[in-house]
Amino acid sequence: ALRRPASKLVRFSSSLRRTLSSLVVLETGPPAPYSVLTAASKVGGPITVLLAGSKASAAAVEVAKVDGVSKVLTASSAEYDHSLPEKLAPLIAENVKGGSYTHVFASASAFGKNVLPRAAALLDVQQISDITAVESEDTFVRPIYAGNVIATVKSKDPIKLITVRTSAFPNPATSGNSAPIEDAVDPAVNSQTAFVSEELTKTERPDLGSAKRVISGGRGLKDKESFDKIIYPLADALGAAVGASRAAVDSGFADNSLQVGQTGKVVAPDLYVAVGISGAIQHLAGMKDSKTIVAINKDADAPIFEIADVGLVADLFDAVPELTGKIKN
Ligand code: FAD
Repeated sequence: ALRRPASKLVRFSSSLRRTLSSLVVLETGPPAPYSVLTAASKVGGPITVLLAGSKASAAAVEVAKVDGVSKVLTASSAEYDHSLPEKLAPLIAENVKGGSYTHVFASASAFGKNVLPRAAALLDVQQISDITAVESEDTFVRPIYAGNVIATVKSKDPIKLITVRTSAFPNPATSGNSAPIEDAVDPAVNSQTAFVSEELTKTERPDLGSAKRVISGGRGLKDKESFDKIIYPLADALGAAVGASRAAVDSGFADNSLQVGQTGKVVAPDLYVAVGISGAIQHLAGMKDSKTIVAINKDADAPIFEIADVGLVADLFDAVPELTGKIKN
């Protein structure tokens, strides 16, 4: 009498193995991180993209063409502009519940890091952050301790919310598809949070995140005046973006947006020049994947020389202006 009928057991186990289906939440502003879709495709099952805000409809037309997209959902209300997590998270949670998705993906950018944890809390599941590979539908690879350890994590949550390190996955083909575009379920949550204003740093220089060459300065520059006088002319001579160590940022030599490292930007340019930077692991976490690393430091034992392809033991106040002059000529 204690045994269940066999048919019930079968039904029970098949209901546990739900059909795989992913919801990918993409930001609408360029550049769209389409490589998140490549990560989602590794899980298998159809991929639905959710876009929110007044640019959602225009962005949907482009996303619908991307290889592997099954459907695009749009919530076009301007309420979703500026990606406030207080508004976007309920939208994501509502669509996940309605759509029986097993996986939700977003980029591990400011957007995903801001929005997805709150959606995970609403769905009462744990987020899996910053993945660099998908091993199976429930197992993912992610760097921890500033990239010094690679962890493989397995999730038992019924819905897996995942942020993706976009540089770890290739972009899918962005033409040839024509996925249907539909309206998302819009919970129109009455939030107490409203967007007031934003201040963006405008620069004529190449963007630090995507530049082919980066010249970074550290505490060795001594002060802001020297940072500006030594680093910028070299960057201009090479058509490079400017970066900085955290010590340089904290000392007021450079703007916060220029910080490279664990708590700054992760860059992987063709050429990275570290000037007066010691090479702390938190700095290396942001630049060690650069193709060619050049270090200029007066201390021959500085750890930066351990990962540098080209090292120059010299006083930067002599060496860098000389180098800049030679490049210009
Ligand atoms: P220093 O370590 O002081 O090095 C200055 C270097 O300049 C020295 O090697 C010195 O030999 C050289 N120098 C001095 N004068 C000259 C000269 N005249 N000519 C040539 N060389 C000279 N750091 C980051 O950069 N990015 C991060 O994102 C980051 N995140 C962090 C997160 C956490 C949780 C923590 C705890 C730390 C983080 N840090 C980060 C800080 C990091 O640990 C280091 O303190 C920082 O990177 C040091 O910056 P620096 O190399 O410019 O300064």
